[in-house]
Amino acid sequence: MAHSSWLDAFLVEPGATIDLEALDPRDRSRFPDEESARAGIEADAKAIDDLQDRLYAEGRRSLLVVLQGTDTSGKDGTIRHVFGATGPLGVHVHPFGPPSREELAHDFLWRIHRACPARGTIGIFNRSHYEDVLVGRVRGLAPPEVIEQRYAQINDFERLLVESGTVVLKFMLNISKAEQGKRLQGRLDDPAKHWKFNEGDLADRALWDEYREAYRIMLERCSTAHAPWRVIPADRKWARNAAIAAIVRATLEAMDPRYPETTLDASSIVIR
Ligand code: ADP
Repeated sequence: MAHSSWLDAFLVEPGATIDLEALDPRDRSRFPDEESARAGIEADAKAIDDLQDRLYAEGRRSLLVVLQGTDTSGKDGTIRHVFGATGPLGVHVHPFGPPSREELAHDFLWRIHRACPARGTIGIFNRSHYEDVLVGRVRGLAPPEVIEQRYAQINDFERLLVESGTVVLKFMLNISKAEQGKRLQGRLDDPAKHWKFNEGDLADRALWDEYREAYRIMLERCSTAHAPWRVIPADRKWARNAAIAAIVRATLEAMDPRYPETTLDASSIVIR
């Protein structure tokens, strides 16, 4: 598969107004069939492992993958499938829950910045600084004028990261309300999944429309040329995984990390 064609897949064009409801969570038009898409995920995951090895050896740049999506949208599953073959040394996953007292005593990007990937590594954010304009906005966790300032602050912060050698990939996992209903019911029906069930998820589901509006504003204001958003159709898990794996692989291929040149003359060294 020609991976460069994935570079502009599902992009939110910077500056565009978007109709989130017009983006189909069941879209599978990029995949001829499910079987080859599943095979593609496996091949892409292996390629990502190899590219990450080169990124680490090169030691100059990093990749940040931001995953945002409502409860049950598949952030954990995406990480498992897309990065499951990547050696754990060079990949770090950071989940972001409600901020601690210490975190609240700083600006909202403080905890984010310290979790950003070091040169040579891949960082994955399971939720992110965008919660501060999503749950923050919907639940009024900060005054409206403070929330308003955050969009530009985020864009400036991400520019700093990009100019410092980090490529920023942002994925919104777009599931429908009906699919979320099925997945929440699935958690209730399966005792092994009860631990995942959280009353707070139902409270957030009751605010579905408010969250959709907050997502729309976030996508419109924070899809920039340096760090654009992508909206991934996520009602089908395999299509979600296949799309994100292909985009991550294409991005790493475009970065083209190289093993460093050395002056080592291996033939002159004899191991005794
Ligand atoms: P998950 O639901 O992703 O498996 P958790 O339940 O531990 O993980 O934490 C997620 C919760 O943390 C979500 O309800 C989310 O809205 C909340 N959260 C994350 N970041 C923030 C933030 N900056 N401010 C307030 N709440 C946040």
